[in-house]
Amino acid sequence: MILFDKVTKKYPGTSRPALDAIDLTIERGEFVFLVGASGSGKSSCLRMMIKEDKPTTGQIHVLGQNLSTVSSRKVPYFRRRLGVVFQDFRLLPNKTVFDNVAFTLQVIGKSRGFIQEAVPDVLKMVGLGGKASRYPHELSGGEQQRVAIARAIVNKPALLLADEPTGNLDPATSAGIMALLESINASGTTVVVATHAADFVDQMKKRVVELSAGVIVRDERESGYGTTAATATARASSAKRAPSTTASPTTKIVTMSETPQVESQTDAFQRLRTFATDIPETTLDAVPPMPDPFAPDVDASITDTQDMSTLVYDMLDSGVVSRLPRDDDAAPVTERLRAQSQRRRTYADDDPADVGPVQ
Ligand code: ADP
Ligand code: MG
Repeated sequence: MILFDKVTKKYPGTSRPALDAIDLTIERGEFVFLVGASGSGKSSCLRMMIKEDKPTTGQIHVLGQNLSTVSSRKVPYFRRRLGVVFQDFRLLPNKTVFDNVAFTLQVIGKSRGFIQEAVPDVLKMVGLGGKASRYPHELSGGEQQRVAIARAIVNKPALLLADEPTGNLDPATSAGIMALLESINASGTTVVVATHAADFVDQMKKRVVELSAGVIVRDERESGYGTTAATATARASSAKRAPSTTASPTTKIVTMSETPQVESQTDAFQRLRTFATDIPETTLDAVPPMPDPFAPDVDASITDTQDMSTLVYDMLDSGVVSRLPRDDDAAPVTERLRAQSQRRRTYADDDPADVGPVQ
């Protein structure tokens, strides 16, 4: 499903590599937490998995493809087979919940009938069945992230990648999001979650791959976050230390797989209260925020985008969507973007067999 073969990433102008000869294999159907302090290389790993960036040396295979052989014109089609979720949700503010999710399907040319069926289904699955006509600003943070997750999975990707998906959410809301990710995994989708939310990693007993200064220092099945990562800020510079193992013995385990697929925030909060008192305060937000390399880098020269939110560019750049809306979509686009859309449409050589859930 995912293979990193001696992957090294050196960003220009930096002295040490962000990733240093990473070897990693993730099998179909796995749920993997990628943990580590800010700057340890989690986002870099995810960015290279979606071919948003490429390794300096080494090879990456994702979904059976060697990414070095995926040409840039093929990248949008490759990304259709992935779902991606970010810390900051990246919803289109001027579109309803329904349209935010439908947008992904529209841009890959799904029929209206398909969209009318698929969108309500996926909204129900993420617990937002009754909120299809809301706008993002009318939702809580947790609900917004559920919309983003719905958008990521509506095309039934074989692989779902999430970069700090609970980074902007309180612990109670985060519990619901983690449970949702777990239920998506249970339905067959491979899920990789980069996070420093130590408490959830401890509870969920999934495979944990820990990065420290660009090196994998731990790779354990059914693991917890480990005491090392929880205090990693203090030791961010001490790379290649001995792998650590156990979660705090005082942490009570709440079995997320036994929770309902969708639960109310109150339920999640109740459940969280049962163990939150056992977790040292510092583990919740021990790691200071770093500039998000996924952050928008919008072309400032584009001005006539009142209707077409600049978030569309982010979505394009980050692979959430693979092309702009069709001409018959409501939003007007600039000439430059229309030309880009035209170019993308020309490569209509996608393999329909590429898309589908893991059986
Ligand atoms: P994490 O997601 O674990 O916080 P990142 O992958 O974002 O880690 O960053 C790993 C290292 O690479 C950090 O030292 C960071 O400063 C550096 N880095 C990330 N993106 C870039 C970039 N575009 N240019 C230069 N350095 C970068
Ligand atoms: Mg990051």
